[in-house]
This record gives sequence, C-alpha cells and structure tokens, in this order.
Amino acid sequence: MSYESRMLAQLAMPSRAEVQHALLRTLLRNGGIVKEFGTGQDIVDQLADEFQLNKRQRTAALETIYRKENRLKKSLLWHRLLFRAADALASEDFVCRPTQTLQLTGKREWMLTEKGFDEALRISGLPTTAKESLPTTKSYEVQKVVNRLLEARRPENYQPFDRTRKLVRTVRETALRVRGFRQAVIELYNFRCSVCGLKINSPDSLCWEVEAAHIVPHGSFGRDDIFNGVALCRFHHWAFDVGWFALEDDYKICISSKLRDLPRDFARVGDYEYLGSLTKQLRRIQLPTRRQAYPHVNSIRWHRQFVFCP
Ligand SMILES: [Zn+2]
Repeated sequence: MSYESRMLAQLAMPSRAEVQHALLRTLLRNGGIVKEFGTGQDIVDQLADEFQLNKRQRTAALETIYRKENRLKKSLLWHRLLFRAADALASEDFVCRPTQTLQLTGKREWMLTEKGFDEALRISGLPTTAKESLPTTKSYEVQKVVNRLLEARRPENYQPFDRTRKLVRTVRETALRVRGFRQAVIELYNFRCSVCGLKINSPDSLCWEVEAAHIVPHGSFGRDDIFNGVALCRFHHWAFDVGWFALEDDYKICISSKLRDLPRDFARVGDYEYLGSLTKQLRRIQLPTRRQAYPHVNSIRWHRQFVFCP
C-alpha cells in the first residue's frame, strides 16, 4: 500500500469511484463545465461539502521529500483525490481535459464529452432524452459544432436551404448539429428574446426559457446555422412560426394586418398588447454584437414571403 493510499484509508476519504460520480453530477449541475481545480476554488469546497468532509479530511497534506533539492513538498490529499478522479474520467473519455478545452473555448476547464453527458444523466436518474431540454449544457462534441458555426464566414450568396440533409447524415450527427445550432444562437443573443428582451432561466440555472428559432423552418429544410437563426422566447417563437410577424431587411419588425380582425380580448393581458406593442415601438430586434452574425437577408425574405401573413 502506497503512502497516499494509506493516508486515504486512515482518514476514511471517499473512494475514487464515488468522487468520479460526484464530479459527473457536478458537471451536469454546472452546465457541463467546471474550472480547473485550484486551491481555494469554490468547486473544491462544494464537493468537500457534498461528502461532508471534516476539517482533517479537508486539510490533510501529503508530504514528499525531494532529496536532490533537499526540499519538502506538501499537497492537499483531497485536492489530489479530486484531480485523480477527473484524470480517470478523462482517460475513459467521460470528460476532456482543461488543455483540450483551452483550445476550444480559451478557458482552462474540465468539460463533459457526449459519453460523459450520457453517464452524468444516467447516474442522476435522468433519461438521455433530457439533453434536448438542456440546450445550453456544454459537451466537447457540441462545442466543436458551435465553434464551427460561429467561425463560419458570412456568405454573400446565401442559400438558407440544406436539401442534402436527410440523405447523408446519421442520427447522431443530426442531433449534434441541432444542439450546436441551438447553443450557438442562444449564446449569440445573450440568452434573451431578440423581440421582447425576455431573459430568464430555471431556478437551478440549467434551462433557459429562450429558444433558437429557424427563420426558414427546419421542416422546409432550413439550415442549422447562425444566418438562419434568431433567439426568441416561446411566445414570439410561436408567433413568428405561424406568421404573425416577420422581419424587414433592416431587421425592423412588421406585424400582420390580420391583427386588426382579432376579437378585442385576443393577444392581450389587461392593457398589454402582446403583438400590437411590437409595432408601436417600430424598432429593430436586438441583434448580436457582431454584424457578421446577423440573420441573413435571404432567410428573412423567404420567411416574409412564405410564412408571414401580411
Ligand atoms: Zn419574446
């Protein structure tokens, strides 16, 4: 038994497998990422709290003597245990290491892989279909799609349709693509509805109310890219999809004239008119910071022509 194992046993520290599970659950609770473990970081204490570690368990240090340099090095046992658990998860492809994530996002974080995402859901008692309702939870594979979408050059002659889609892609590829599209669009619009500005998440911070809407709908072979996407709250997503409003070429909102024919108590709560209020302000939707990432005019023209009810 090594010095380290002896200490782990003496202090009755949690097993590495238990820590691995706790880490996966924590990753799920934190949207798929946790910062690289450093002393004093919240995550180190949070996990220690989860295992109800006592003061001795939290502060026990391993001492290693470097004979050549005649130096004594101390490292926290709990910290090492966490790192070893994360390292074991990375060896089994459940997470990617901070060095890999750094290349993708510029941040030194542990990030779930798709395999790790599935496993984290499984040990949390959730079905893998729960991924659909967690569109902003990161995974390495989806992040690669997001990066590709965000880095794509804005085409001059953009075709908002992708007719090859059904022929060549596997189910897995399609799922990653759709999740990548959602994540990229939601992040670009800073998690808020581009029409009314609503921004809200669930109390556990895992689910966002906002949705990534296709401008040329998915059912009409609309592309899963940022030039064919816009972030909308559930109500405005529905109203956009059924043609109650559309966008002008300069991204101003236009409302269907049919609104006048609605009974007086429709589309309003008290004095607030859900659709009518949009035209009164005559304003543009809230767009991403980068002009390069605005929806393409070819998508919004198609929507105006074929979905909008003027
Ligand atoms: Zn809205």
